[in-house]
Amino acid sequence: MAGEKHANIALFVNHVGCPQQCTFCNQNVIVGETAQGAGLQTCTPDDVRNAILTAEAHGTTGAQLAFFGGSFTGIDRDYMVSLLEAVQPYIGTVVTGIRCSTRPDYIDDEVLDLLKTYHVEAIELGAQSMDDRVLALNRRGHTADDVRTASRLIKARGFELGLQMMTGLYGDTDDGALRTADELIALAPATVRVYPTVVLEGTELARLWRAGEYTPQTLDDAVPLCAELLSKFDDAGIAVIRLGLHSGGGVEDGCLAGAYHPAFRELCESRIYLARALAALGVTPDASPVDAKTATLLVAPTELSKMVGQKRENLKELKRLGYDCQVKADENLHKYEVAILND
Ligand code: SF4
Repeated sequence: MAGEKHANIALFVNHVGCPQQCTFCNQNVIVGETAQGAGLQTCTPDDVRNAILTAEAHGTTGAQLAFFGGSFTGIDRDYMVSLLEAVQPYIGTVVTGIRCSTRPDYIDDEVLDLLKTYHVEAIELGAQSMDDRVLALNRRGHTADDVRTASRLIKARGFELGLQMMTGLYGDTDDGALRTADELIALAPATVRVYPTVVLEGTELARLWRAGEYTPQTLDDAVPLCAELLSKFDDAGIAVIRLGLHSGGGVEDGCLAGAYHPAFRELCESRIYLARALAALGVTPDASPVDAKTATLLVAPTELSKMVGQKRENLKELKRLGYDCQVKADENLHKYEVAILND
């Protein structure tokens, strides 16, 4: 029906349920609350009902209700059930089902049975790394094997599996992040989210950074790496539903260092288009400039600005390599495909 909206309704379950504090995490900054006392604030069943009624008033139907932010299956059981029950009257009308995010070590058969009863459709696990050394250094409190075991249980019960990973973690490397991506692909999730680490005020990572023991990724480090990860997941047919922290909330104010940019995904996608344009032209990125040539690059109609790049940086880089390019739309091409127009 015209005017219907299907956007997810997101609610944050703020920090309750976490047995420890990961080095990089300050959920109060992520959700934009002031630090004072906010660690105890989290959503209530009334908040859930109000969010659904507000979405309904705005014409939303068929949305997923998403509980994000903490360790949903680790929270007090009565409280968790009260949140799930608040959604039930709206299942089949405003809401199709529920998705939640949680820790890999808080998944077992018993809790999966319970989630199934309450129409949970998708479960996202914060894996972050598949290297036990990196997990321990970042005080995750779980192992890579916990991710593998929980992923298999979730899929065996017919839930949609989502996995989340980070880049630039304390003690990690680019190769480590690429290995993590390969391991996540092997678990065949439906979706992934990729977050470059940012240093948030009030975290152990901020202390390590101030002590000179942690060097955060810069944007220049993170963009090529995350472009490669995005390509990898895309090639494997896995949807990357988030790349980089959401803008807004308190992130801009609370971010001390690290690879944060409000349009991070677009930067990575532009990098993929540059790589694909160079491949289509038969040029390697470290090639010496050639005598001036012209070329017309073809991409899908929705992808023109990504091919051009922010501040036309892709076209400038191609020009530096000797190719004066213009970009045109070709509706026969798919996302990330680049072709050369033959005159
Ligand atoms: S488990 Fe998640 S929510 Fe809890 S402290 Fe770690 S990153 Fe934060």
